[in-house]
Amino acid sequence: MSKIKKTKNPKSIEGNNIRNYTMESQLIYGKPKNPKWDYDHQLVPPVSSSTTFRLDSAQRGAEGFKAFANLQALKENKLPIYIYDRLGEPNKEILEEHLAYAENGESCVTFASGMAAISAILCVLAKAGDEIVSHRTLYGCTFSLMKNWLPRFNIKVKFVDLLKTKELKKTITDNTKVIYFETPVNPTLEIIDIAEIRKIIDEINKSRKESNKISIVVDNTFATPFCQRPLLLGADFVVHSLTKNIGGFGTEIGGAVITPLKYKPQILLFRKDFGGVLNNKSAWSLLVYGIPTLSLRLSKQQETALEIANFLENHPKVQIVHYPGLVKFPQYDLAKKQMIDYHGNFAPGSMIYFVIKGKTPKERQSNGAKFINYIAKNAYTITLAVSLGNIRTLIEHPGSMTHSAIPPEVQLKDGMDPGGIRLSIGLENVCDILNDLKKALKII
Ligand SMILES: *Cc1c(COP(=O)(O)O)cnc(C)c1O
Repeated sequence: MSKIKKTKNPKSIEGNNIRNYTMESQLIYGKPKNPKWDYDHQLVPPVSSSTTFRLDSAQRGAEGFKAFANLQALKENKLPIYIYDRLGEPNKEILEEHLAYAENGESCVTFASGMAAISAILCVLAKAGDEIVSHRTLYGCTFSLMKNWLPRFNIKVKFVDLLKTKELKKTITDNTKVIYFETPVNPTLEIIDIAEIRKIIDEINKSRKESNKISIVVDNTFATPFCQRPLLLGADFVVHSLTKNIGGFGTEIGGAVITPLKYKPQILLFRKDFGGVLNNKSAWSLLVYGIPTLSLRLSKQQETALEIANFLENHPKVQIVHYPGLVKFPQYDLAKKQMIDYHGNFAPGSMIYFVIKGKTPKERQSNGAKFINYIAKNAYTITLAVSLGNIRTLIEHPGSMTHSAIPPEVQLKDGMDPGGIRLSIGLENVCDILNDLKKALKII
């Protein structure tokens, strides 16, 4: 326990010293006394299940509406006046405090799904005429949002290779407002250097007015705050699909934006009017089961992931393995610098991307399909299903499933092999997962 590093930036919790405890414990207890709700006599916060709230007087109602999405009121963090679930209610607000805390951010707004969170932050930061620069490879629905929907509102998205920072500089124009990426990238696990991007954007922002500055938004779904805190590396905003590893058990769908407090009012107003609120019972589950077990699950999952990645790397029928924890991973050094757990240890995560051997792209695709079909029929500890970060090991073919919104020729150009397989490691015994993989590889 001696090498435990204290996390920096205790700004989001005022006036007590719980930062002297480890993050594992903080994720279980959160803030001990919370002005949002008197629940400190209950071991577990109760489920609040009220869509509307009694207002004692017209005056109280008016005060509540005045305080909603008001920066000054948010700063004062007083006992809130709840009005209606879509504006705010206790389960979500306690969850939001925990999430902001885990990411070392000032505040958080939760959403009905990861996609609701992503569309909210992009629409808050960019308006008609503005531009977004995004990494070329992305979760399929985020790609589709940027390709099919945002242009209809005259928000232009330029896709570049953010591994080549020179390309980024050339792409930015006076209209650029947002740099967006995932790291590790879904599904290829490429790593984007957050600190390097910060340096470039700082240089450009120097000569811009406050209202025209470029923001960096990082989707931290693959890493989770356990493996990486992008805000400490220079990101301005973090988005999450809570559906994945933060939820962990595969029972809730949700999303979140971790944001500086000054942007919170606009994000809350967006959520109020576009309506993508997180279900309060899901918020409760995420708070009570998901977040407190995140460290435990992730440390076990990544231990298993390293063993599986090593096995795949040495298997004669496997052509490519991407796992940030492998010494041969092309961006191993960057991963080691960027993906760090709460104690300062290398935390390469629970996701693996690999390709079965084949001379041509077509052969690799057909071998991959054969392999996945065998698993779907015969494996006990690996399930063919989309989603990830589950206690069960999940396998899928991004090219035809989660990333099918990206045209095949673009996938190929962007480093997604037609035979690429995504594996999300769960909590099963590693020997069982290995046995299931071995049996499936035999049939190739
Ligand atoms: C799943 C996923 C999303 C979308 O989240 P939903 O909760 O399914 O809306 C966004 N980004 C990444 C990286 C994802 O894996």
